Amino acid sequence: MSRIQLHQGDITKLNVDAIVNAANSSLLGGGGVDGAIHRAAGPQLALECLKLAGCKTGQAKITAGYKLPARHVIHTVGPYWSGGNRHEDELLASCYQHSLELAEKHGLKTIAFPAISTGIYRFPLERATQIAIATVKTFLEEHSIPEQVTFVCFSAHDFQVYQRLLQEAGNLP
Ligand code: ADP
Repeated sequence: MSRIQLHQGDITKLNVDAIVNAANSSLLGGGGVDGAIHRAAGPQLALECLKLAGCKTGQAKITAGYKLPARHVIHTVGPYWSGGNRHEDELLASCYQHSLELAEKHGLKTIAFPAISTGIYRFPLERATQIAIATVKTFLEEHSIPEQVTFVCFSAHDFQVYQRLLQEAGNLP
């Protein structure tokens, strides 16, 4: 089986070692996938996040998963899209890179990513997806952990874009 998987649905339902949260820099919760993860994990997640004192854009921090089926949550802060001249591409790649590095450091074999920055932060979907795929592919070529990375798309439209770009990159049949 390929080490890169694609799934359509709600990331909070996934039974993996870690799900990644597209958080904001306060790490105190927000809308979109962040809100869904905090609701599903329960209030203890926010209490642990409070102790982390925030997170910079492009960086990542890890917590427990509490009531989630996932054992851990890796919180990363994606860039807000402001036209492409504010290092948005590099910052988005850095989110994937640092999340994967944290997973490796903690020996986490399975990790699932949402489409970071492509919701409220308005990063163009195709451009973000190319960055996500390229960064994950390169990391997996160079590391044996994580063993498996799942991209989770909430909408059917996002799923189709990921499917096409993963096929073009030779990662899906
Ligand atoms: P950002 O602020 O980084 O743009 P959002 O949460 O607004 O983050 O959106 C990121 C992506 O997460 C979007 O594609 C959105 O549709 C998706 N999303 C929202 N809720 C969930 C969920 N429960 N599971 C998986 N993906 C989700």
